[in-house]
Amino acid sequence: MYIGVDLGGTNIAVGLVDEAGKIIKSASTPTNAPRSAEEIAKDIAGLCKSISEEAEAENLGKIEGIGVGVPGPVDEKLASVYVCVNLGWDEVNLKAILEEMTGYPVFIDNDANLAALAELEVGAFKGAQNAILFTLGTGVGGGVVTDGHIYRGSHGLGTELGHLYMGENFYDCNCGKNGCLETFASATAIIKHAEKLIIDKVYPESELNRLYNQHGLNAKAIFDCAKDGDALAVIAVERYTKYLAAGIGNMINLLDPDVIALGGGVAYAGEYLMNKINEKLPYFTLMKDKVSTELKFAATGNDAGVIGAGMLAKTEL
Ligand SMILES: [Zn+2]
Repeated sequence: MYIGVDLGGTNIAVGLVDEAGKIIKSASTPTNAPRSAEEIAKDIAGLCKSISEEAEAENLGKIEGIGVGVPGPVDEKLASVYVCVNLGWDEVNLKAILEEMTGYPVFIDNDANLAALAELEVGAFKGAQNAILFTLGTGVGGGVVTDGHIYRGSHGLGTELGHLYMGENFYDCNCGKNGCLETFASATAIIKHAEKLIIDKVYPESELNRLYNQHGLNAKAIFDCAKDGDALAVIAVERYTKYLAAGIGNMINLLDPDVIALGGGVAYAGEYLMNKINEKLPYFTLMKDKVSTELKFAATGNDAGVIGAGMLAKTEL
């Protein structure tokens, strides 16, 4: 048995995860960021303690170690968080703090890497040697699998797919650069673009315009309106899927993976989204007739963080 911890900007989710990547028990508490690493670690250790006591009382098996996913880059020793804007942290050795508090071996990794690890162990990447996960949420995250292992780069800074340069955009990325994939292909990006079209008075009679004036936009509303043929929403979705297809095409040209999976909230746009990407993808790949990379949806959903963290402990021990 392993404990998987998904430390997010909003919530700390903790789960008891078995050898096969199944969540047996779970618990959570608000992160209340920004707080110090020690304060947040105390909450994590508390949740781990109650889960391990329950596991012991119910004879569920011995806990071997703890994996933790964090929303920021982690060093190559899976110990120190370099910086974590969402939590308000500078460099901190979370492994050392949590090992001291819990008495278990602890491994830390970037949450996007762990989402890819969850897919590799129990989801869309099962059996794949080379695979790439794009997580389409508030930002764009990504994880890369090469030769059956998570690729982390030489310094633990690898696979920031959301910050691939795609060309000029009308607003800057949070990272300080203009033109990052996540400013074209995140939920935030499609909302900002649709709002710009509305402010620029493109199709003022559109349904999307009405929704905007009523209660503002979200990515789901934009995709739903586009599915119904709303002209304004279609423009936003066409631009969104063009850049996402370009990002996916770049990665196919670079790594020729078996599988690329799409996860995160925008992926719930489903087959409509997938069809739009498949239409545009050949343009962005060099070997157009030979591309056999399979495009799929991620399978682990909201549990990806906890499962991946549990599987990190399993693979590192
Ligand atoms: Zn960026």
